[in-house]
Formats: sequence, C-alpha cells, structure tokens
Amino acid sequence: MENENWKFGTKAIHAGVEPDPSTGAIMTPIFQTSTYVQEYPGKHKGYAYARGKNPTRDALQRNIAALENGKHCLCFSSGMGAIDAVIKLLAYGDEVITGNDLYGGTYRMFTKIFQPLGIHFHFIDLNDVSNIEKYVSSKTKLIWIETPTNPTMQIIDIKACSEIAKRNNLLLAVDNTFSSPYLQNPLQLGADIVMHSVTKYLGGHSDVVMGALVVNDDALYERLAFIHNSCGATPGPMDCFLVLRGIKTLHLRMERHCFNGRKVAEFLNQHPKVEKVYWPGLPTHPNHEIAQKQMKDFGGMVSFTLKNATLEKTFQFASSFKVFSLAESLGGVESLINHPATMTHASIPKEEREKAGVTDNLLRLSVGIEDIDDLIKDLNQALEKI
Ligand SMILES: *Cc1c(COP(=O)(O)O)cnc(C)c1O
Repeated sequence: MENENWKFGTKAIHAGVEPDPSTGAIMTPIFQTSTYVQEYPGKHKGYAYARGKNPTRDALQRNIAALENGKHCLCFSSGMGAIDAVIKLLAYGDEVITGNDLYGGTYRMFTKIFQPLGIHFHFIDLNDVSNIEKYVSSKTKLIWIETPTNPTMQIIDIKACSEIAKRNNLLLAVDNTFSSPYLQNPLQLGADIVMHSVTKYLGGHSDVVMGALVVNDDALYERLAFIHNSCGATPGPMDCFLVLRGIKTLHLRMERHCFNGRKVAEFLNQHPKVEKVYWPGLPTHPNHEIAQKQMKDFGGMVSFTLKNATLEKTFQFASSFKVFSLAESLGGVESLINHPATMTHASIPKEEREKAGVTDNLLRLSVGIEDIDDLIKDLNQALEKI
C-alpha cells in the first residue's frame, strides 16, 4: 500500500498502516499479547513470540522507515536501547570516532559501559570533519554523530562524514533525534544507520520512552534485528500505538516548532541580558550554511547563555517561568527549559563539559507549539527578573 511518491504529511498518516483486516478498524490495534498460537510446531502466521515480532510494532516500524526514506526500522524500548544495539555490532578492540558534544546518556554509555568492555571511543571536534581521518586506524569501525548537537547546536556535515566513512570502509550512524525525520534524512546523505530517541519529536507528547534505528542495507538490518531480539530491548504494543498516533501530526507539530523556535531565537538574540544564542537558523551561527544545505528548516531547540550570570542566578532564572516547565527531555508539544550542566549533561565531567561549551550559564529550550506571544511574554518576564 506504500506509495513511494507520497509527500511527508501523507506518509506520516498512512505509511505502513492499514485498516485491521478482521474488523476494518482504521486505527492499528494494540496487540497486547506475549505469544501466538501455532497450528502445529513451526506453522504460524509469521508471529511466534512478541519479543521478536508484534503487529503493532511492525506497523510503527514500517511507518518510521518510510519517514526516513529507509527500507528497515527496528523500534526499541528506549533511545539508549537503540544506541546499545548499534555498539553491539562491534567487538573487543574496535574503535569508534564520535563528537565531543553528545547527549549525556550516550557519552555515559560509551565511557562507562562499552569502554571497560574493550571498545575505544575518540571524542573529537567535528566542526571540521577532516579531523576524523587523523583518528582512523585499522581498528576503526564506526563514526557516530549527532546533529544538531546537544546542547550547543553545532551542525555536523553528514554528507562529508559519509564520504570519509565510505573511503575508509566505516559505518556512519547519525543520531537524528533533534531534527526528526521531518527536518533531515541522513540515509539520503550517505549514512548507514539513523537513530532516533522516539521519546522526543516522533512521539511528541511526552508520554512514551522509545528508540528506533533505520537502515537500508539488508545484511546490516539482519545483524541489528538479531541483536534486537537477542538482547531484548523491545517496546510494548501500547507504546507503539501511542507513537503511531503521535506521528500522525509530526509534520504539523514540526512546522510550529520551527516557527516558534525562530521567533524565540530572534527575541533572545536581541535581548541585552542574553550573551549568546545557539540556533542553526541564525545567519550568525557558525554552521548556518551546512544547516541550510542538509536541513529543511532549523527546528525548535534553542540554547543560550545569560550575560554575567552565576550558577545561582541561572538557577533562579530557570525556575521563574510560567509557561515553560523546568524539565529534562524535549520534542513534546509543551515548552521546556533545561539547565544542561546540572540536568541532562550532569554525568559529563566539568572540564569536558566546559570544553564543549556546556557552561553554568547555559540554558536549553525545547520550544513547544503553544502560542508564540505567550512564550515570548514568559521569556521576557523571566529575563526582567534577573
Ligand atoms: C533523549 C536522547 C537520547 C536517549 O533516548 P531515550 O529515549 O531517553 O533513551 C539519545 N540521543 C539524544 C540526542 C536524545 O535527546
């Protein structure tokens, strides 16, 4: 039923989902089951045990694959579960080249879980991707990037990374969480694996934790599917249903996230109490040109630093909002404010953190889809108080 020519909004609503054949129910049923009856041993309808396969999850996987213009998708019980599966493609002694501005949980998993198991990670500055080749050795197997990065919104050139990966026979994986498939499709820029924390924009309603991987290559998919089923970080059917529902409005939500993100970035950028604004849509952003090249728009994530603000003053500011809620996470309909140094990025040592620009006066906004006037008013009153 998939139509290759469908545009994004049509795919978001229809790709991979069909009315239930037994009842005609237009919404994909929640197959809340752990096992499936077999006629005689080995003869079943394609479903044997729900860790391996579940029809609600299948529909969601087909849908997300279509949004990324990919062939295969696997959904996981969290974004971290998805990343964990990618690193399990590697073996003792292998090396990974990655950025120095990563999601805190990713950094923690790489350094605290996989490094002791014998996988080595190079955390390098990817603003200039030609740095990568300095670290490539015969042991290098994977380049792992995030773009935009979290929280300083650097834009990494995906196409340039993929050229380096191909030249050196490495896999390129892209954490596409901040962009969502609406803004950017890494597989088309030459990536081998796209990863999402579905918890964020794809789910979109702050009610599910989930991850996803999308790939084109059949053999790579088979290896990942084996890890998925063997290690077992698979999501439940109720969560898959909620995400299928959330995705039906992804394109509308993203349009508003981008619109509001721009207004907020422009407002902060002219405010005398704001030192620096990190949003890739600003012409002054150091990677604005690459962002224009690889993204459809610039998203709703905006970071900024307060001028001459101590940690205490920054805390005071972060706690004085009426519409924005102080919370970790992002990508939901509601606006959030986060203090990366003590919240999302607290697991990164202070020295590393500050090198990557995650200073005590840095704040990160996930601009939601509320009315922009109320968001600006809220920011303004909070800035006036400091
Ligand atoms: C949230 C997040 C993750 C981790 O995903 P979970 O669903 O929380 O496990 C990974 N990468 C990025 C960029 C994220 O924002």
